[in-house]
Amino acid sequence: MQQHVVVIGAGYAGLTAALRVSRRHRVTLIDPRTEFSERIRLHEVAAGRAAASVPLGELVAGRDVTTVAARVVALDPDGRTVTLDDGVVVGYDRLVYALGSRTDTAGVPGVAEHAYTVERAGELSARLAQGGGTLAVVGGGLTGIELAAELAEAATGWQVRLVTGREPGAGLSAGGRRHVAAALERLGARVHAHTRVTAVHPGGLSTDRGQIGADVVVWAAALTVPTLAAEAGLAVDARGRALVDATLRSTSHPDVLVVGDAARVHAPGIGELRMACATAMPTGAHAAEVIDALAKGREPKPFRFRYVAQCVSLGRDDAVIQPVRADDSPHRPVITGRAAARINEWINRYTVGALRAERRRPGTYRWARPLRATAPGVAAVAGAGGAGYLLG
Ligand SMILES: Cc1cc2nc3c(=O)[nH]c(=O)nc-3n(C[C@H](O)[C@H](O)[C@H](O)COP(=O)(O)OP(=O)(O)OC[C@H]3O[C@@H](n4cnc5c(N)ncnc54)[C@H](O)[C@@H]3O)c2cc1C
Repeated sequence: MQQHVVVIGAGYAGLTAALRVSRRHRVTLIDPRTEFSERIRLHEVAAGRAAASVPLGELVAGRDVTTVAARVVALDPDGRTVTLDDGVVVGYDRLVYALGSRTDTAGVPGVAEHAYTVERAGELSARLAQGGGTLAVVGGGLTGIELAAELAEAATGWQVRLVTGREPGAGLSAGGRRHVAAALERLGARVHAHTRVTAVHPGGLSTDRGQIGADVVVWAAALTVPTLAAEAGLAVDARGRALVDATLRSTSHPDVLVVGDAARVHAPGIGELRMACATAMPTGAHAAEVIDALAKGREPKPFRFRYVAQCVSLGRDDAVIQPVRADDSPHRPVITGRAAARINEWINRYTVGALRAERRRPGTYRWARPLRATAPGVAAVAGAGGAGYLLG
């Protein structure tokens, strides 16, 4: 039976879900933006490259998907409605909650007032174009590293510092971490490792190791999720991410599927999935399959997933491609340099290419899953967004 599926959030997860589910169902896709923002390229935008976005209308053209440019301000999971910022109430048979995440600017004093984030990449780029000085990027995860490297390479006249509570790229192998450190040094970025920032001021940072002067601060230390799920009474974890069962349905409200960064997904053999495009697109696609199964009166299948690689860009000509085991732990030597930069760029393009393919033929997108029987020397390989399969 055809259902009316409302998808809130047109990021990687929501768009994948909307396109796939439009194969058999009527979809309303709600997001205040009229463009799909390629969030995985925001560090490039901060460095002055063209805005990485595609009109939503183009990505859903020809499908039974109605786009609504509005912010969702409330959910009523019992009444099966969402309320938009213009007061309109939209009813649904099934809801896909895909509101993603954003940089957490709460918690450390001064961050919200004095620091830029990747969500303000365009403003940051304009500020950097005004003249040089010292630029501090806070956060040694993959986003912080990508930002520091990209800005050190592109922002002429700026001295870049990367400040992190641990070591940059702590989840990479020793070889991966060594390459990241060498690349940052080559690009002239100074690393302040094992340094915890306690406050941000107009002139720089207070840390547990003293003051660090900075004319511009970019905060990339932590992510937070919208509070809408918690406000609506959906079961959430301490960070506000919706709890889902093995099929990605809310544990408290099974009519609601939660995907992407907004969900706390546990996968067998892995544990909690990290917030990533590489997990957002597969969860979006799987949610569409679950909705389809339920509409046909079938038992939906559990979500199956495995990690394959972590990709870290280090400017335009360098990157680290870190092969990982199914559970995301690093293994094998890393790929680095120009070859890695090319692979990373290919994967980035693949994410939008996969959305376009899904529009043309819903159901096309595939992602890496645990192999039932692995032949020696053969591995399923996919990158951010779950590129196809390669032999390794
Ligand atoms: C610089 C950078 C580089 C990255 N690189 C990688 C990488 O190489 N590989 C990787 O796997 N991941 C990477 N990531 C992480 C990745 O971008 C996120 O994990 C991914 O975007 C999550 O997808 P999503 O669909 O859940 O959410 P999002 O992409 O955040 O989309 C959420 C959508 O919800 C909309 N929304 C929010 N609130 C509302 C509301 N109230 N009403 C309606 N709509 C709303 C937003 O407008 C947005 O369009 C990177 C992130 C950054 C910042």
